[in-house]
Amino acid sequence: MSESASMTFPSLNPGTGEEIARYPSMDAEQVQALVDRARIAQAWWADQGFAGRRRRLTEWKNTLVRRMDELADLVHQENGKPREDALLEILLSIEHIDWAARNAARTLDSRSVRSGLLSINQSGSLGYEPLGVIGVIGPWNYPVFTPLGSIAYALAAGNAVVFKPSEWTTAIGAWIVNSFADVVPEQPVLLLATGSGEAGAALCTSGVDKISFTGSTPTGRRVMAACATRLTPVVLELGGKDALIVDVGADIDAAARAAAFGGLSNGGQTCVGVERVYVVDSLYDAFVKRLGEIAQGLRPGTEDGSSYGPMTMPNGADKVREHVRDALASGGQLVVGSPDAMGGRVIPPTVITGVPDSSESMLEETFGPVILVNRVRDLDEAVDRANATEYGLAASLFGGDRRALVAAARRLRVGMVSIGSWVMYAGVPALPWGGVGQSGFGRIHGADGLREFSRAKSVVRQRFDLPLELTRFDRNPRTIAAVKTLVRLRHGRF
Ligand code: NDP
Repeated sequence: MSESASMTFPSLNPGTGEEIARYPSMDAEQVQALVDRARIAQAWWADQGFAGRRRRLTEWKNTLVRRMDELADLVHQENGKPREDALLEILLSIEHIDWAARNAARTLDSRSVRSGLLSINQSGSLGYEPLGVIGVIGPWNYPVFTPLGSIAYALAAGNAVVFKPSEWTTAIGAWIVNSFADVVPEQPVLLLATGSGEAGAALCTSGVDKISFTGSTPTGRRVMAACATRLTPVVLELGGKDALIVDVGADIDAAARAAAFGGLSNGGQTCVGVERVYVVDSLYDAFVKRLGEIAQGLRPGTEDGSSYGPMTMPNGADKVREHVRDALASGGQLVVGSPDAMGGRVIPPTVITGVPDSSESMLEETFGPVILVNRVRDLDEAVDRANATEYGLAASLFGGDRRALVAAARRLRVGMVSIGSWVMYAGVPALPWGGVGQSGFGRIHGADGLREFSRAKSVVRQRFDLPLELTRFDRNPRTIAAVKTLVRLRHGRF
């Protein structure tokens, strides 16, 4: 056994520093052994067919429904978020497991396709087969919802999964894997890899059939480079710098509440968190006032009833402090917050206005309870400025003109848009989830999410011989000329 194989690391409560559990720091050999076990289990899981997998996934979902309070307590302890927010991500995850289980056969099972003019004697069929073993690498900020967006869909498609949760939320990862093993005891179809980034890196080069990575953009680049060594395909769900836009006719109270919850809940540690707000001139003052009142009323902390908890990572506050300093130094006006009170792990809600789009705090993901609000002339300017980052995860729109908002949604360079709310695309399991640009590529959730973990298999079956046989050396010389005429008749002369 190598030295790192005998090492362990603690999982800690970010509010109290208390140790929750201890896990092995797995080395490459141990991660490889998990992948090898998963490969054997996958053959068995694939043999269960769509109906068998649906039954097991439904039982798993029922377990989560029964034990959701227990899991929410663990999320509260290990990640630090309030129990109610933990429940929210569990409730959403339950909907996704259910959707993946119910829709896998309809989306992936073999179906006939129409044959074309040149292949009229063929019957075509298209089916989606599992890829094999999927490596899922997850972050700590939504330690249930985020990995399950890959795990549930990969399992429903017939794959086995090796899951490497963030070292900061390993106990939650272990709970998820153990609860699945309770309903699928026969084979290790879902396995847990524990450790730091090294264990994740080992998973990338272990020969898994795909990596589904959720985390920061810099780590995403490293994951993609590591996967390139074995041509392992990747899905990258990365960071964001999401904007919320407030256009004329918007319900100011609703928009301010959405901005406050979207930007400050979970201490702002949300990939699709509202980090920037653009408000049209006529509503700007009223919006800033209302957002300020809501933010001022929040009580972050570790006690029951806190609005949000401490930063999950020990060094999580450093970048936030840096961004607040940068925003104020580049001309921003502090509406709510206190840079002097940012020493601890619990960061006060912070609202800053008038920060130039070119400043670091406007361009880079902050990942803290900080909302930057800017004034714009109109909706067009808001969309242009929202698009002016390299990220492109999601956006929210509020306004009175439905057609203008729908047109703006099309112009936004992001993967997901919610009109009149924040994040509600996450609650519609049929809708794919993913970003563009530096926010990543590939899709989880919905039919696209099921196909992401499958490979298309095309089959044709010749039903009868054609007089015009195209693919033979001894074909009649007039065959190609005849088919050329047929194609011209069908598609026109040019
Ligand atoms: P990180 O990128 O730091 O880590 C993500 C995961 O990758 C963790 O499990 C981490 O392990 C692991 N890891 C670290 N280094 C490597 C490596 N070299 N190879 C393979 N795996 C590695 O992200 P965070 O956990 O800090 O999560 C926050 C980020 O995730 C934010 O940027 C956020 O926007 C993004 N995110 C994106 C989402 C989306 O859907 N687009 C959803 C949720 C979050 P360990 O933690 O043990 O070091």
